[in-house]
Amino acid sequence: MPVSFDTLEYTASGALEPVQLGYDGDENRGWTITRNGSRWLELGAGYRLMRSAACGVCSTDLARRFLPFPLPQVTGHEVIALDDNGDRFAIDINASHRARQIETDCPFCRSGLANHCPDRLVLGIHDLPGGFAPWFLSPVGALRRIPSSVPTDNAVLIEPLAAALNAVQSIEIREGDRVAVLGPRKLGMLVVATLAEHRRRTNLDFSIAALARRPDLLQLARSLGADTSLDVSGEQPESQFEVVIDCSGSPAGLETALAAATREVHLKSTNGQPAAGVEQLTEFVVDELALEMLSVNAVEQLSPAAGRVAGVVAWTARSEPPSWVSESAAVIRTRSVAELAESLRNQPPNGLPKADAVVVDSREELVQAIRPSGFGAYSPVRPTGTIFYAGRAPEGVSLLQHLQQKKLRLSSSRCGDFDAAIDLLTSDDALRDLGAQMITHCFPAERLADAFEAAAAKDCVKAVVTHETP
Ligand SMILES: [Zn+2]
Ligand SMILES: [Zn+2]
Repeated sequence: MPVSFDTLEYTASGALEPVQLGYDGDENRGWTITRNGSRWLELGAGYRLMRSAACGVCSTDLARRFLPFPLPQVTGHEVIALDDNGDRFAIDINASHRARQIETDCPFCRSGLANHCPDRLVLGIHDLPGGFAPWFLSPVGALRRIPSSVPTDNAVLIEPLAAALNAVQSIEIREGDRVAVLGPRKLGMLVVATLAEHRRRTNLDFSIAALARRPDLLQLARSLGADTSLDVSGEQPESQFEVVIDCSGSPAGLETALAAATREVHLKSTNGQPAAGVEQLTEFVVDELALEMLSVNAVEQLSPAAGRVAGVVAWTARSEPPSWVSESAAVIRTRSVAELAESLRNQPPNGLPKADAVVVDSREELVQAIRPSGFGAYSPVRPTGTIFYAGRAPEGVSLLQHLQQKKLRLSSSRCGDFDAAIDLLTSDDALRDLGAQMITHCFPAERLADAFEAAAAKDCVKAVVTHETP
């Protein structure tokens, strides 16, 4: 049954404009999407038509025009979907071959990196129209049934909670650590709650601090599990925390995080802007990369992509690789990142045309290794891989300066495991009122512009829009 409906699309200026969308097709044949009566996008098989019941507004939605994906687009990716029976589902947003349940020889979908499938669209972010519209197309394998014990205002947090959980699982927390969450709001509050849950479950002894500029946010963070709160509106907090999770969504926030951390900064922000002297940090987060100074330890701990026996380290620095690198990894030696890309494409190690780590020695090569500029450009580092810096940190590039001076590691993460997030919401009593505590603003979908305005305002933690459903 084709559907067509009026909704609002996000445009390159950041304004929301009325648009008419139509979906025609089915799961097996694929779909044609029309926009204002004209053909707009052809989707292959593996998508199911769903109704959107509610959709959260996230910082990515507000910064969407800075992201390297085509506009205009109907956005919204924190969706609660309804099927024909009125059953509720959360939607994993990456429309990979795997999520669409399509037979494929895609090396990414086959090596556990489906969330990074190069052919994927992303619900409400990259081409695939999202849940701020009353109808959308979900990859068939991306539907996660929401248990009846999870109320709708908790369920709408499943997507960002999965992302928060991924951050907590990606960082290394040791006994006695001081872990700080910078910018506890939409996502950061969930990171605080997830850290507290992690501590309850593991009995690991670490402290949780919330760093913000507003007393009301600090208070909420404390009620969600932070032990201490620090107002960072004045001076930069200097080296007080082993780990800082940067959820600030701003370039200035990353500077604060780098100043405050002694061992690891975890980046959760995709604001599309250069920060700490380095471009392409949004792509860094999209690919869930890590950056650290080259060391024996770090190379030894490098994990290879699925199907590889040893890590593949691509050495593009001007110096010769020391013997301890080739003792614990397979080394590809090239003179530049560009040459490396060429070599990996011609001879992909174990089918995946990427290295597990790339060694660079300049800011320029670092940026090249993350992503040569341009939408959809190829990066030689495997998603979730590492970039090692083997040079001297240049003046004025504060990211590299902090890295070198404090031996900091910069890690990052993006989406997470929906099943684990749903588990958390059903198993931990302390999270029972999470939605009630977090959601400060709620609007009908026709008032999406008001929801965006509210979400950007200082008094908002989380804004949600709802659709009228039968
Ligand atoms: Zn989001
Ligand atoms: Zn794929």
